[in-house]
Amino acid sequence: MRRPLVAGNWKMNGSRDEAGRLVRGIVDGLTAGGVVDVVLCPPFILMAQVAALAGSGHGVTWGGQNVDTHLSGAYTGETSALMLRDHGATHVIVGHSERRTLYGESDEIVAEKFAVAQANGLVPILCIGETLAEHEAGRTESVVARQLDAVVERVGIAGLDRAVVAYEPVWAIGTGRTASPEQAQQVHGVVRARLAQLDGDVAARLRIVYGGSVKADSAHGLFAQPDIDGGLIGGASLNAEEFLSICRAAG
Ligand code: PEP
Repeated sequence: MRRPLVAGNWKMNGSRDEAGRLVRGIVDGLTAGGVVDVVLCPPFILMAQVAALAGSGHGVTWGGQNVDTHLSGAYTGETSALMLRDHGATHVIVGHSERRTLYGESDEIVAEKFAVAQANGLVPILCIGETLAEHEAGRTESVVARQLDAVVERVGIAGLDRAVVAYEPVWAIGTGRTASPEQAQQVHGVVRARLAQLDGDVAARLRIVYGGSVKADSAHGLFAQPDIDGGLIGGASLNAEEFLSICRAAG
């Protein structure tokens, strides 16, 4: 049985006041001994505050939204896996579609970030997903396969054993347009089957979460699918009640 995971991607949102209210609301609303892993991914500048408020023992961990491929040095504006670990982060999102499209991150750069993060004690949350044009051209499966294969080539199938995959169709991110549970399940099933060709045990253990305009009312249907093991939540993770409802739907 795979333990569900729900991660909140705050993106570039939140003042210190808002972050404080949000984390307190989430921590207070989570039931002790919950069956869902909850990961908050704030902007780097708010991470120390999130770490202080979420602390240990609240059933919440935190992670980065991005990471550099280097560990330290003259890389202005970047943040390393070591820095994230130093702040108690457990996870880091790599290959979010906004990083791929707005900041030109190639499959190879994403694979390198995945490898460096993992080698330095972070669990990568690897985002894969097709654009609207690719979706309409019927290229969903080949696109996610290409994105996945780049990582497998870099770290081997064993590297997927300490990772999470997030299937996020780009056309569903921040658009209010969610993939149907059946559409999402179809892709999650393809991803798991592809990895199972390399190692059935790793594929069976891998958590594949769905992301793309998930809200409390769409979460149940999505999470009920056999290969959907939770969610990566953007907009709805900025509202404690909505995010908690999504976490409950995963449990
Ligand atoms: C995301 O940014 O990973 C995401 C899924 O965003 P949203 O839930 O807002 O579509």
